[in-house]
Amino acid sequence: MPASISNKSYYQATANRTISTVPLEGNVTADVCIIGAGYTGLSAALELAEAGYKVVVLEAETIGFGASGRNGGQICTGFSSGQSKIEGQIGKADAKRAFDLSEEAKQLILDRVEKHKIDCDIRWGYMHCIPKAHQFKHLQEWADEYEALGYGGNTLLTKAELEQKLGTNLYHGALRESHAGHFHPLNYCLGLAAAAIKAGAVVCEHSRVVEVDTGPAPWARTAKGKVSAKFMIIGGNAYLGQLVKPLEGKVMPVGSYIIATEPLGENRAKSLIADNEAVANTNFIVDYYRRSADHRMLFGGRASYSTFEPPNLGEYMRPRMTSVFPQLKDVKIDYAWGGFIAITSNRIPDCGRLSPTVFYAHGYSGQGVSLAGMYGKLMAECVRGTAERFDLLAKIKHLPFPGGRLRTPLLVAAMAYYRVRDALS
Ligand SMILES: Cc1cc2nc3c(=O)[nH]c(=O)nc-3n(C[C@H](O)[C@H](O)[C@H](O)COP(=O)(O)OP(=O)(O)OC[C@H]3O[C@@H](n4cnc5c(N)ncnc54)[C@H](O)[C@@H]3O)c2cc1C
Repeated sequence: MPASISNKSYYQATANRTISTVPLEGNVTADVCIIGAGYTGLSAALELAEAGYKVVVLEAETIGFGASGRNGGQICTGFSSGQSKIEGQIGKADAKRAFDLSEEAKQLILDRVEKHKIDCDIRWGYMHCIPKAHQFKHLQEWADEYEALGYGGNTLLTKAELEQKLGTNLYHGALRESHAGHFHPLNYCLGLAAAAIKAGAVVCEHSRVVEVDTGPAPWARTAKGKVSAKFMIIGGNAYLGQLVKPLEGKVMPVGSYIIATEPLGENRAKSLIADNEAVANTNFIVDYYRRSADHRMLFGGRASYSTFEPPNLGEYMRPRMTSVFPQLKDVKIDYAWGGFIAITSNRIPDCGRLSPTVFYAHGYSGQGVSLAGMYGKLMAECVRGTAERFDLLAKIKHLPFPGGRLRTPLLVAAMAYYRVRDALS
């Protein structure tokens, strides 16, 4: 696992945790062993437990300890790479099928929230804001692309219209999506875990897998036990470290950070984001923000290829927030935390098989809030004998990241390039 980043988040302070678990002890057999209790692993666990499979989930720390319990809570559309990169790899028709799966991913969240009564403050509405006036034409192209893919109902906001909705004059317009939004990420994750446990899955927290066999008869060993299973699903994402050799170098952990202000009161919070929607700018190094249910500003962004948390994270992040909302310069920052996003070289998630019975998916490249649950579901479909939808995505190819001493300098150089590109575009 990469070096630590603060685990004291606003989400932990407001978690709805109703379940208890015990660590793995002794030798256990299961139909499916799942590594990681984030959206990927828990989504697969829920599907499979509901279908009657004996499922054991092994989590190194606690449910939602990884990105699923730390993220910006922004429920995004499509893939981080954009649609054209996917079309370039698998052709227009299959890329459209991939997009349809990403649409289904958002619906899956809504369906699960409703079916399992997950209390996670979910809200629909998402504004993508442009920092430069000349970028408005890109918003139109973006809206047209969505329309052509069958995802309509999105609107363009002029600068003046946007200023009615956002308490800043920084941007020059926005694409407003009606079918994307935000939620409390940890509470959604805990809700998934509770639903999976209710359906019969066994979730073992504090059960780090220290050794695995990813061959046709897979097993996973922890300090105190071992699970032998017919199938294995690997959902460790950026937190997997070097456990599974063939997955090393496929994704790169990138640090991203979030601050939560003190409660601002409903009126002040409304003066910042009138309709309580999710907001992001369109830069490559993105700022993403939203209101919390108790009227704080949750502001995320930055990106770091170092695995060390910047000192005084709250003050490190504050200038990003005040560049958008100068009126928040004196507010208290109650929480600051970070986590690791797993990115792939082309920003398309990577998934596949390590043997006929071992599946993995990771590298959602900053858009896993919706996608991870879908990839978990698709791996569950593979276990159940229907692999077509998974195989559609598994045929997408990725270049590995460079290993050894070149890895970090190359990525730092790439990040510097994107900062300059954001400034010039
Ligand atoms: C700060 C931040 C902000 C983000 N914001 C957004 C956003 O707004 N919108 C969006 O779409 N995406 C966002 N993301 C990305 C999104 O959160 C992830 O793509 C998604 O949560 C991935 O889910 P996962 O289940 O694959 O991985 P994770 O949630 O990281 O879960 C992996 C789990 O595996 C466990 N694990 C690892 N190794 C082992 C082992 N050896 N044994 C047992 N368990 C192990 C870890 O402890 C961890 O709990 C953000 C990520 C971060 C960090």
